[in-house]
Amino acid sequence: MARYTDAVCRICRREGDKLFLKGDRCYTDKCAIARRGYAPGQHGQGRKKASEYATQLREKQKAKKYYGLLEKQFHHYFELAEKMPGIQGENLLKLLESRLDNVVYRAGFAMSRPEARQLVSHAHFTVNGKKVNIPSYLVKAGDVIAIRESSMGSDKVKGVLEANASRPALNWLSVDRAKAQATVVALPERSEIDLQVAEHLIVELYSK
Ligand code: SF4
Repeated sequence: MARYTDAVCRICRREGDKLFLKGDRCYTDKCAIARRGYAPGQHGQGRKKASEYATQLREKQKAKKYYGLLEKQFHHYFELAEKMPGIQGENLLKLLESRLDNVVYRAGFAMSRPEARQLVSHAHFTVNGKKVNIPSYLVKAGDVIAIRESSMGSDKVKGVLEANASRPALNWLSVDRAKAQATVVALPERSEIDLQVAEHLIVELYSK
């Protein structure tokens, strides 16, 4: 599967926001946004008034990169969101949040979304007792996501669980750290998704 291979901190600097792509480092003063909070490249520090199109494009790029998706995948979620009842922009974010790799990250079973995607691909998780190794798998309310018993001995998994032992719980996700499992109480409302993005601009961009 195609994926980004660019230096990930450059992605955050381009979007002007922390996208938490590097795990631990994102929470330290080594974060590139804290040290060089301007766009990369020769003209990164130049001040330029963004056009309406550029503003919409940046919002879409930010959301896409936050969840680690390529254009085709992201647009697919947009089309799915269009068919759902409710507000399309909010539906889009709900769909993105319900990806298995995101839920694994939100539950504290990975330090970042890229790491969550790798752990899911390597078949370290079950959903409702069945092995699932598809990061884009969409969970629903009531689903139970658990670390496989055979993976509990892995140093990586142990390290992540230890590092995230005190991570605050989310309203929509009930996490039992002792059992290394999380239950989706309900899919999150927009107010429960901490992504700083104006989703209506994404809808406007794709509706042109
Ligand atoms: Fe983004 Fe994390 Fe790099 Fe900071 S350390 S720029 S949040 S990926």
